[in-house]
Amino acid sequence: MIDRNDLTRVCADWMAVDQVQDYCPNGLQVEGKREIRKLATAVTASLDAIEAAIEWGADALLVHHGFFWRNEAASIVGAKAARIRRLIQADMNLFAYHLPLDIHAEFGNNAELAKLWNLVDDASDVKRVWRTGSLEFSLPIEGFVDRIRRTLRREPLVIQAGPKQVKRVAWCSGGAQSYFAQAIEQGIDVFITGEVSEPCYHQALESGVHFIVAGHHATERYGVQALGAKLANQFSLEHRYIELANPV
Ligand SMILES: [Zn+2]
Repeated sequence: MIDRNDLTRVCADWMAVDQVQDYCPNGLQVEGKREIRKLATAVTASLDAIEAAIEWGADALLVHHGFFWRNEAASIVGAKAARIRRLIQADMNLFAYHLPLDIHAEFGNNAELAKLWNLVDDASDVKRVWRTGSLEFSLPIEGFVDRIRRTLRREPLVIQAGPKQVKRVAWCSGGAQSYFAQAIEQGIDVFITGEVSEPCYHQALESGVHFIVAGHHATERYGVQALGAKLANQFSLEHRYIELANPV
């Protein structure tokens, strides 16, 4: 069991949330009951995820994508009201960790992707959200794509534009296509993120760098699971990760 305020403090400490510039609040976003024994995790605090957490009897739901984004309307109406109403009715806490949970060197999304794909992080510029690193051995691009397909259980979209054998990699969970140009400057063979925009196609071809679109949801499943497991282990909580398929 852990007190909700202690959980807030522990996570703030582990992830140094006050040192990360973000565009949503990181920490306790909706306050519920005081004592937490059952912790659910999910990628996004969607209504389906909230209902599944309530059904399981969770005392808290911890997500990567919570509420209150910088450019969204402040009013609590419509779908946002429905989500918050269900949380408050159930007296369930909502914790959200966005960028702090992408960049954490031990259990962040990018660190977890490196473990899944056997990438050695250069560990340069540790506060930068996107990462560069290397495969242990160079691989045919098809082999690397197959590794991503198998581990994420999802068909990636591949813009094949780089060398036949790949070794140098840049990657970032979620929607990090805007970092592609900066990553190219680091001398990479392949760039992987969750989403893509139209200009990336031409950028890839003209720079000779492969671009792999591995799914925003699929690349962000792993941080919340690792954090949830660590909290469960440390404070003897029951933990359940709620996977809700999302094709994006
Ligand atoms: Zn995201």
